[in-house]
Amino acid sequence: MAMIYLNDKLVPESKAVVSVFDHGFLYGDGIYETLRAYEGAVFKLEEHLDRLFHSASLINLRLLKSPEEIEKALYETLRANRLKEAYVRITFSRGAGPIGLDPSLCPKPTFVIIANPFKGYPTSYYKKGVKAAVVKTRRNYKGAIDPQIKSLNFLNNVLAKAEAMERGAYEAVMLNYKGHVAEGTVSNIFFVKDGVICTPSVNAGILDGITRRTIINIAKAAGLTVKEGSFRPDDIYKADEVFLSNTTMEVMPVNQFDDVKFRISAAGVTKAIHKAYKAEVREYLRRRKRPRA
Ligand code: PLP
Repeated sequence: MAMIYLNDKLVPESKAVVSVFDHGFLYGDGIYETLRAYEGAVFKLEEHLDRLFHSASLINLRLLKSPEEIEKALYETLRANRLKEAYVRITFSRGAGPIGLDPSLCPKPTFVIIANPFKGYPTSYYKKGVKAAVVKTRRNYKGAIDPQIKSLNFLNNVLAKAEAMERGAYEAVMLNYKGHVAEGTVSNIFFVKDGVICTPSVNAGILDGITRRTIINIAKAAGLTVKEGSFRPDDIYKADEVFLSNTTMEVMPVNQFDDVKFRISAAGVTKAIHKAYKAEVREYLRRRKRPRA
């Protein structure tokens, strides 16, 4: 049975239960991170922990744990489950408290780490690409719930995903309130036009994806021009290549965006970026394993 880190210790999955009065459950009041362990090492851990604390600060949630304590708990969870290739989710909710929206009703956040074996995605998704569709559901207005908060309040994304599935698409692409392309339900979006890599800027009201940042750095280091800006679906219809990114999918080619089809080429920019991303993961693992001088 899977071992779950709950508050201050590891417990079997059957005992990993939280209160029905938890404000995460009642109000979606909380934050989380999704991470990926390769060969037992969590890639970009520091960036994920930084973003976790940033999300917490944006909802005035005091985590009552240091980054070092969270890291220790995370590796304990991986070890307890004997996992090397893993999907890891860290969740902090506001905690249990009486009914009512006042955050001060909850004295202590609830802390959970789940680590599951990483199952990966079908290889056909990478070879043939996936379908993405612009949905009617708009991305949360950043003046209401800033998408930079990786929040437990996920209904915006759930509704968008349901729309995509109804249309036979794998990922929904949400527009912001201005009609500009924002992001997927669990991914950032990129497109390539005449060798220039384009992606909505963080100002469009998106999550500042860690994979997105890594890809931008990879592209710049390779001498490619990266344009972060405001784009409309029309810009993507005219693109040469489209791809999605997140921590677990890494770089996922899109073969159809709305009704426009894209050819997936082994010689394309998407594949080159994915190759460079994998090389960065390998380099990280190599550096981690090198004995300290
Ligand atoms: N956008 C949203 C809404 C997400 O939920 C995610 C990740 O799950 C991403 C983008 C990609 O972020 P990252 O690359 O940090 O995994």
